[in-house]
Amino acid sequence: MTETATKETLGFQAEVKQLLHLMIHSLYSHKEIFLRELISNASDAADKLRFEALSDSALYESDPELKIRVSVDKEARTVTIRDNGIGMSRQEVIEHIGTIAKSGTREFFGKLTGDQKKDAQLIGQFGVGFYSSFIVADKVSLTTRRAGLTQEHGVRWEYATDDEGSGQYTLETVEKAERGTEIVLHLKEDEAEFLDAWRVKSVIREYSDHIAIPVEFLEEDKTEVVNRANALWTRAKNDISEDEYKAFYKHVGHDYEDPLAWTHVKVEGRQDYTALLYVPAHAPFDLWDRDAKTGVKLYVKRVFIMEDARKLMPAYLRFVRGVIDAADLPLNVSREILQETRDMEMIRNGCVRKTLDLLDDIAENRKDDFAKVWEHFGKVLKEGVGEDQANKERIARLLRFRSTQADAETVSLADYLGRMKEGQDKIYYLTADTLAAAQASPHLEVFRKKGVEVLLLTDRVDEWVVSNLFEFDGKSLASVAKGQVDLSAVTAEGEDKPEEPAAAEEAAKPLLERIKTALDSRAKDVRTSHRLVESPACLVADEGDMNANLARMLKQMGQAVPETQPILEVNLGHPLVKRLENEEGSRFDELAGLLMDQAVLLDGGQLADPAGFVKRVNGLLFG
Ligand code: ADP
Repeated sequence: MTETATKETLGFQAEVKQLLHLMIHSLYSHKEIFLRELISNASDAADKLRFEALSDSALYESDPELKIRVSVDKEARTVTIRDNGIGMSRQEVIEHIGTIAKSGTREFFGKLTGDQKKDAQLIGQFGVGFYSSFIVADKVSLTTRRAGLTQEHGVRWEYATDDEGSGQYTLETVEKAERGTEIVLHLKEDEAEFLDAWRVKSVIREYSDHIAIPVEFLEEDKTEVVNRANALWTRAKNDISEDEYKAFYKHVGHDYEDPLAWTHVKVEGRQDYTALLYVPAHAPFDLWDRDAKTGVKLYVKRVFIMEDARKLMPAYLRFVRGVIDAADLPLNVSREILQETRDMEMIRNGCVRKTLDLLDDIAENRKDDFAKVWEHFGKVLKEGVGEDQANKERIARLLRFRSTQADAETVSLADYLGRMKEGQDKIYYLTADTLAAAQASPHLEVFRKKGVEVLLLTDRVDEWVVSNLFEFDGKSLASVAKGQVDLSAVTAEGEDKPEEPAAAEEAAKPLLERIKTALDSRAKDVRTSHRLVESPACLVADEGDMNANLARMLKQMGQAVPETQPILEVNLGHPLVKRLENEEGSRFDELAGLLMDQAVLLDGGQLADPAGFVKRVNGLLFG
């Protein structure tokens, strides 16, 4: 290759400088991962070329056999990795190599622990693979030509860490560059181990065996294919070792940790496809990033088509990683059309079922692992109750909650059903902002007394779950803070008489009317409570109204919420309420107001008139 004179110097983006600094100065263990990263990039470049060539076979030029070639030069002290994949245009080099477009980079820096081993492992996960070259090299030169740009020149990017302070790299035009990308690493003084052919080959075997195209090692003009070079998922299950499954996961999942579980299925029928789907052991950094694209990769007859978690899997399974390889989809179909075809929908549904089978299996047989699944992906799975009507019941079975009888988030709805009291016909829950608020809620009093378990829901997404899940296994879900509660059919231990005789309720009616009048329009209704034991009063939402927790949540999110008034429920057995009966005039009004204020505070709400509240309390204390 001869070079022309067009050479320019460009500056790295600040994040890249930071990243380079990290690679150069702080990574000392697992240095060999640079090979895995560069080979992985080369393999992706081959996938991209094969995809683009579906609609333009000229892109193969006269070189259709995609492969990766690694070689070492002991004299020059270089390691070279070359691929004949898609390559990059000048502009692409500037965009991909000089800048980090990924939103994840900031998170990457945030996650660095200072622990060499862990930090090195993080590199691959955060898509900063190319820069790992600088763990072992003090100068890297990347020469590339985009497939199809045969009339144009290639381009060479070069950076030597000597100029580190300047933070600048050079770009120059290269004539007659071959298609694809060649990366030459000039090894640092003490990295001679990577000049050793045996060492390099064993690293390739260890980390890159699953790469689907040949990885050749060139030695004294002889080439040797070092990896198995076939797509792992196409092989028979019993021919694949656990370690191979795990290594492949690390490649597709961009993860450094082993997966928790996987399912490998070949489906034959109206649609023939193979799926290899993994459940990771921890959440990816972009689990909550709306634009995150990584996830499940789609292949058609082993040709990579696209990677887009949100299209191949429903959002509530966006943590799943792996590949789907369809046999019958047309190869030349566009990405947009692909998403809408009926065939693709069948495949997607099949993969969702397989994933739920896998999760069921973990929940059933590997409780500790399921606890991890729940810890990392529980909030995401909860979305599925509203998102996937067809599998709602199955997803509901996987959900885990805290309850009045469990300190940890471990109670399944099936556990709950198994513990229901005789005479109990509903699954009770309470939603609140925090666990402390839930546990202190007066709404729980009668449930505690009767030994009836209540699920305590404190995730934001829980409101969404209960607004979509009305029943489970034939039992309806009911909020303890809404509508009427009737536990009269459930007897508490040692309890013999019904505690609220109808006669007492009848007799209390005039008092309740007086309270309602005194409260002016603060309460929609005032009625006798069947849920209080110790507290004098509490608020409940009317049957058809939105509960207070949800209303507060929506308001915080800036949404318009219909103004509804709560119902004040009064504990007729409480001394404060008894005392009210003998009060009149402004004194009565003050006490009634105080009853209401307490109920609002206990409900997690704010008082519209805190000064008035303080005055009323002081009036009582000193009056
Ligand atoms: P990642 O591979 O996770 O995107 P990298 O820093 O390793 O992150 O690479 C950045 C980008 O540079 C890649 O997304 C790709 O567009 C481009 N790139 C890297 N290596 C190659 C290659 N061998 N051939 C073509 N493009 C490449």
